[in-house]
Amino acid sequence: MDTKRQIRKKGSMRIDIISCVPQLLESPLNYSIVKRAKDKGIVSIFIHDLRDYASGKHKKTDDYSYGGNAGMVMMVEPVYKIIKKLTRQRKYDEIIYMSPDGELFDQPMANKMSLMRNIIILCGHYKGIDQRIRDHLITKEISIGNYVLSGGEIAAAAVTDTIVRLLPGALSDETSALSDSFQNSLLSPPIYTRPADFKGWKVPEILLCGDHDKIAQWLDAQAIDRTKRLRPELLDDK
Ligand code: SAH
Repeated sequence: MDTKRQIRKKGSMRIDIISCVPQLLESPLNYSIVKRAKDKGIVSIFIHDLRDYASGKHKKTDDYSYGGNAGMVMMVEPVYKIIKKLTRQRKYDEIIYMSPDGELFDQPMANKMSLMRNIIILCGHYKGIDQRIRDHLITKEISIGNYVLSGGEIAAAAVTDTIVRLLPGALSDETSALSDSFQNSLLSPPIYTRPADFKGWKVPEILLCGDHDKIAQWLDAQAIDRTKRLRPELLDDK
């Protein structure tokens, strides 16, 4: 397995997420591995409600689009205010906008981002944000796939989760993230747990033999075979 991946040396990571529907981020970032990483001080995640930065009594964050196209557009001012407030307080490695036309998110990108100290992730909603924010404030645009979500929150949660599980100490077994799919451009081999025989469905004999070298060889061969069968293009990239 790949042990060349650079691992963050020290210091916790800070992720600021800006959203006009912050409720959508609550459960994905408050349970399981991400919650434990927050509790251990490995990562701090701050969710900012864009509405708190909107002016007027209606706290509007969106408006009709110039040119008459259908759909509402997120306004410049509230986004500008929150980003300026954050960047005045500390230096950010990237100010990211989640967008279907951004760079496709993958494991190498997540590995790189897990070495960063502070990042901002801006979630769009409705038709997206005013282009001027993208032109003047955003430093990186990320897509999680070639399809369109209603908002950037689920995409931001996917990116955050992927990064956080790579931070040292987030997973109980440090080598576990290294043996996941896509590290080393290979898919994960099949995995099994007890019982060894469930109604005649048997775990492969070799995994029970106790010879660790033999087992490691078998797992490597399985990973290569699976990748060839299911995702051959991953092997071409190497
Ligand atoms: N009009 C836009 C889509 C807007 S969808 C377009 O055609 O490109 C509303 C918001 O959801 C976007 O602003 C973006 O923040 C988020 N979003 C939708 N699909 C996404 C994807 N595949 N990856 C990342 N973010 C996405």
